[in-house]
Amino acid sequence: MEIRWANAVVDAIKEVVGYQDQAISLHEPRFDETDLAFVTDCVRSGWVSSVGAYVDRFEKMLSERMDGAHVVAVVNGTAALHISLKLAGVEQNDEVLTPALTFIATANAVSYCGAIPHLVDSESVSCGMDARKLADYLQEIAVIRGAECYNSLTGRRIKAAVPMHVFGHPVDMDMLNEVCARYHITVVEDAAEALGSLYKGRSAGALSEVGALSFNGNKIITTGGGGAIITRKPEVAKMAKHWTTMARIPHRWAYEHDVIGYNYRLPNLNAALGCSQLERLDGMLSRKRALASRYADVFQHHQLDVSVLMEPNHAASNYWLNSLILSESTAQFRDELLEVTNDQGIMTRPVWSLLHRMPMYSDVPRMDLTVAERLEATIINVPSSPFLGSKEMRDSIVSEHTRN
Ligand SMILES: *Cc1c(COP(=O)(O)O)cnc(C)c1O
Repeated sequence: MEIRWANAVVDAIKEVVGYQDQAISLHEPRFDETDLAFVTDCVRSGWVSSVGAYVDRFEKMLSERMDGAHVVAVVNGTAALHISLKLAGVEQNDEVLTPALTFIATANAVSYCGAIPHLVDSESVSCGMDARKLADYLQEIAVIRGAECYNSLTGRRIKAAVPMHVFGHPVDMDMLNEVCARYHITVVEDAAEALGSLYKGRSAGALSEVGALSFNGNKIITTGGGGAIITRKPEVAKMAKHWTTMARIPHRWAYEHDVIGYNYRLPNLNAALGCSQLERLDGMLSRKRALASRYADVFQHHQLDVSVLMEPNHAASNYWLNSLILSESTAQFRDELLEVTNDQGIMTRPVWSLLHRMPMYSDVPRMDLTVAERLEATIINVPSSPFLGSKEMRDSIVSEHTRN
C-alpha cells in the first residue's frame, strides 16, 4: 500500500516538473553567457580579491533590493550571521533565541560568539519562530533588569533572537519585532533562504535591526559562496565593514588594527557573478512562484493525503524550496517515500533534524517544541530549481543531457 502511494507521489512530482528519466536535483544553479562575461571581465581586470568595483556594484544592487538598507557583502551566509549577531551586541555567555527548526549554521553562528542558542518552537503557517508562543514563554521565564532581559532559570542574559524564514516563507516579523522589543531583545534576521521574499510588501532581510543573506550554490542566486549583512543604520554598516575587513584602520600604507577583526569580505570575483545573477532575480522569482503553484495544483488534484506548503497571507515567498507536508496517516511512510523518490533519481530530502538532536546542542535551553517536532516528522523537500516545470527549460535540459 505505501509503495503504491509513494509511486503515486513520484508520478505527481514528475507531472509537476514536467519531464522524466533524468536525475532531478533539489536546487541547481544555472549560468548563462552574461555570468561568463562578468566573471571573465573581472579576471581580466586583475581585481579578483577583496577589493574591486564588482563588490561595490553588488552591494549597491542588493541595497536597492533591500529597500535602500545598507549592505556589506561577505564570504558566506554563516559569516554574515556571525557578524550580525556581534553587531546586535551578542557576547560570551548570552542566550540567543533560535528556532529549533533551522539549518545548523544559525546555531553555529550563535556559538561562534560564545553564546548559547535557546530553542524556540515553530508555528505551522510559515514554519518559522512562533511569536505568540514565544511571548507566553517569555512571560513565564524572563525577567527584565534595567534595559536587559534575563532567563530566570539560567541567570543568563537573553540578548537576541534569530528568526529564520524557512524555505523563503517570511516569519510574521511585525509580531516578533513587537514581542522582542518589549523584552529588549534585538532581532537578527536569518534571511539566508529568503532573498526576494516580501513581508507585507517589504523585503525579507531588511525587516529588523540587522539581517543576513546567503548566496551559496544552492540558494536562489549564487556567487559560488557568499553572503551579506543588511542594516538600516549607517553606523552599524560601517562597523560591519570594519569587522569583516580585519578591522584595519584605513591608511595609505600603515597596518593598524583596533580590534580582532575577521577576513570575511566577499572577493570581487564572486561579486562579479553576483551582479549578473542578481539581474536575473525577478525572472527566477516568477519561475519559482509558478513552479510552486504547479505543485499546489497537481497535489490538490491527485489527493494523495499530502499538502504543499504555501506562503503565509502576509507574504510573497521566493519559494526557495518547495515542501510537501505529509498527513498524520502518511507521515509513517516518510522514509519509504524518500527511498522511492531518490531511487528514481528524484532528489528529495527530509527537513533538517531539530537542533537539539545534535550532540553539541543536546542540552541547550529549550521551550516545548511540539510543532517543530511535527514539522520535522512530516516535511519533505522536493525539486525546486527555477527551470523546472517550464517547457523551454525542459528542452534545454534535454539538449544538455544528450550533449554529455
Ligand atoms: C544557507 C543557510 C545559511 C548559511 O549560508 P552559507 O552561505 O551556506 O554559509 C544560514 N542559515 C540558513 C537558514 C541557511 O539556509
